[in-house]
Amino acid sequence: MVAVNSAEHIAMSHAIKIAQSNDAPIGPNPRVGCVILNSEGEYLAQGYHKGRGTRHAEIEAIQSTDLKLMGSTAVLTLEPCLRLDRDTDCTRELIKAGIKKVIIAQVDVTSQSRFGAKYLTEHGIEVINEVMLEEASALNPWLTIAMDQQRPYLRLKIATSLDGKVATNSGSSKWITGIESRNLVHNLRSESHAIITSVKTTLLDNSSFTARISDSEMHLQQPNLHLLGSESIPLDHPIFNAKREVSHYQSIELDDVLQKLWDRQELSVLVEAGPKLSTAFIRSGLVNELFWFTAPIIIGADGLSAIDTLGVNDIKEALRPHLKSHSRIGSDFLSIYQFAVSA
Ligand SMILES: [Zn+2]
Repeated sequence: MVAVNSAEHIAMSHAIKIAQSNDAPIGPNPRVGCVILNSEGEYLAQGYHKGRGTRHAEIEAIQSTDLKLMGSTAVLTLEPCLRLDRDTDCTRELIKAGIKKVIIAQVDVTSQSRFGAKYLTEHGIEVINEVMLEEASALNPWLTIAMDQQRPYLRLKIATSLDGKVATNSGSSKWITGIESRNLVHNLRSESHAIITSVKTTLLDNSSFTARISDSEMHLQQPNLHLLGSESIPLDHPIFNAKREVSHYQSIELDDVLQKLWDRQELSVLVEAGPKLSTAFIRSGLVNELFWFTAPIIIGADGLSAIDTLGVNDIKEALRPHLKSHSRIGSDFLSIYQFAVSA
């Protein structure tokens, strides 16, 4: 690795720091910071990404100053995006601004944004990669894992009674958990590029799967919705009321769904489904994180279990996800588990 000078190193530390500003997202877009230095290593500009639908860190930095950036150095926590399918992107804006050197912490190997560094090099710009890589990777742990596994980061949400039931035997499942837990689910949705569910659950719950701030206010950016199942959905169903894409897959392997989402740059995905689909995802080994809400109610053995059959005969064969955190949410509990995901 080519060494960077101390001014560049300090600039990278600062870029990592501003990427974590209070108004920076925790998803689904990555936290990214950018600092621009002149050829003497003096500070010219800075910017960080404030979330989906807002300017990228590089553009924030470039547009934050009237100073000439010709001949300067851009220090970035993540490789600049290159979207040749679009009119412009951060890579070409850096070139346009006259940047002559780009220092990058983490290389972007997502499906659509990659190869920014290669493009810069081809246009005569000096690029240094993997400076403070470890610290920058920790800015977006979910993205780092998604890039490692080359498929979306997958979170599975399950809400049950104390005895692990998601519904009564009549299928009644609305409002098992309290309002605080439901608000948290809306945040989880807003941190996701996409939600996967089954048509059956959609019809049964009549849920819109939107990310709401309150009953009357929706988050500006809505997760796309991917429905699995052969049943048809009436066009007046509430899922069609939000501004987002809805896709319906009649028959498809889970791996193939995730591949499609990866190809579409939908990198953070939330699964909210009934026992059958939730269990299929767990069985497939595709779940990165399990969000398990437990409400203080007891439904009984005639209720519907959260997890379908797994074929576990001996207790040694039981799945053992790793408990990451456990907290009280109103009158419910939320336990977050991590699965060791097969590559
Ligand atoms: Zn960008």
